[in-house]
Amino acid sequence: MLWPFIVPGGGVWVGWLNRPAILRAPRPDPRGSGLFRVGVFRSGVRMGTAYLVGAGPGDPKLITRRGAELLRRADVVLHDALVDYGLLELANPSAEMIDVGRRAGEARLFNQGRINRLLIDLTRRHAIVVRLKGGDPLVFGRGGEEALALALAGVPFEIVPGVTAGVGALACAGIPLTHRGLSTSVVFVTAHDREDPESEQEWRHLAGMGGTVVIYMGGGRIREVTERLIRLGRSPDALAAVVESGTLPHQRVVEAKLGELAERAGVMTGPALIVIGEVTRLREHLEWFERGPLTGRSVLVARARSQRSRVAHSLRELGASMIQYPTIRQLPGPDASSVPAAVRGLDGSGVIVFTGAAAVSGFLRALARGGLDARALVGLSLAAVGRETIAALRRARLQCDLPIRSYLPIQVAAALRRGKGYLDDQPVLLIRDGGARSALGDGLEGAGTRVTQLQVATRTVDARGRKNAERMMAAGQLDAIVLPSSSAAEALIEGGLVVPPGVLVVAMGPSTAATAERLGLPAAVVPDTSGVDALVEALVARLTIPSAIDHSIGASLTSASLD
Ligand code: SAH
Repeated sequence: MLWPFIVPGGGVWVGWLNRPAILRAPRPDPRGSGLFRVGVFRSGVRMGTAYLVGAGPGDPKLITRRGAELLRRADVVLHDALVDYGLLELANPSAEMIDVGRRAGEARLFNQGRINRLLIDLTRRHAIVVRLKGGDPLVFGRGGEEALALALAGVPFEIVPGVTAGVGALACAGIPLTHRGLSTSVVFVTAHDREDPESEQEWRHLAGMGGTVVIYMGGGRIREVTERLIRLGRSPDALAAVVESGTLPHQRVVEAKLGELAERAGVMTGPALIVIGEVTRLREHLEWFERGPLTGRSVLVARARSQRSRVAHSLRELGASMIQYPTIRQLPGPDASSVPAAVRGLDGSGVIVFTGAAAVSGFLRALARGGLDARALVGLSLAAVGRETIAALRRARLQCDLPIRSYLPIQVAAALRRGKGYLDDQPVLLIRDGGARSALGDGLEGAGTRVTQLQVATRTVDARGRKNAERMMAAGQLDAIVLPSSSAAEALIEGGLVVPPGVLVVAMGPSTAATAERLGLPAAVVPDTSGVDALVEALVARLTIPSAIDHSIGASLTSASLD
């Protein structure tokens, strides 16, 4: 029967006397909840919270929303070497990033004890400490040990589950873990155990089991693992598969009978799972992952803006693995604080010309900081130069009176003059996001227009992804570099990236190709027509014809020819 009783610490417990369960704990948690558990005093020590976050099986999009949110807010991130760079990029640029998976030669720089101590120390000094672990933190990841160390030290912690590799990689391999009629159970096991008598007993049991068996940490020892299972009684004809780098663009799946698996799989370079069971036969019908024309290809898209890139989006849809480099951050420009006074000075008559998307957001932020909002713009006309600037105004729910598609100063000035005679003795407020003085403003001033130029945003190049990109290039894992614009090519070089000869460089158009050439990055592919679609098409053509790839590697060094 149920027994409610009061426990000395204060909570009300209800349950069977031998197994009570807490239903209600009336004592308020002094730490508050969620992200606000900051500033706790325990034994006089101010503390934050440590979050053991599952990063998911590989594809950076497979992290949970809670995990991504914590990563964005973290003061410190401790991560393993294997965690995808796309995820680390989510972190706040000012966050301290510690790679605890780092090695010096063969030896790990951080053993488990050191990681535990670091986690405890950091959480005593910072509000949000994220310990990012591959897959799920509590599946073969020693997350349990880290949580125990935190609990013993009295450090508040939270565990954010992740999609474990056994679940995520198999979904992307088209192998259901269970399937009616084929398998009603699944076992996750690690091959890491040495062959001691106790584990021998367990493996004997495993060899005799039906259902699905998923073996972690066996990629480097497939022969050992399969021979052991066969020796202990599993049939060499059992169906099996290996999934290497599951969920990632270079995912590789090999299916074979257990007795032939090691031979067929060959050498594994990425993390791999061994799967044994009848369910592997379903892959024949359920394989869905490796279908885009760019599956297995890795492409770096250079970036000059903080916005999402249409090129990157299209390439990803075709199956390519994307790195975007460098990361661009927008900060307030030198004239941001002059915006409110300049707008007031127009006194309801004049034109505001925006010359970039970041100019729109920077302007509105500066306006708000001065205590103003859209009402301050009553009576003023708004003009936007360039497709993305027009879109930025639309996103801000501001009507664009004069959309100007050309970037050429002469054409912009002509459009302003044509459009309702904007330049007939109306003052112009030119809002810029670039660093250089605008040729447009100078031109207008020269023609007698009253122009105030304000730079409301400035861009900084965050080159943290450089090592990651260079490592991929050194390992021959990068198939192409795409330069969507001249400024993106400049940002790439500004970010310090050293591009070895032999990497295929693709430029958006002749003027981008010319900039790239000047910067020492000759483009091998320059599509005939401009636009994202043509660029993507040219890249797909180049990367999907095997002979063209080999050829292009040499050609990229010598020619800037078109396909
Ligand atoms: N906590 C992790 C597992 C850590 S053990 C999780 O829940 O997934 C590391 C092992 O996980 C690797 O040796 C490999 O067997 C497996 N693994 C991790 N990522 C993988 C991936 N993308 N594809 C296949 N196996 C993977």
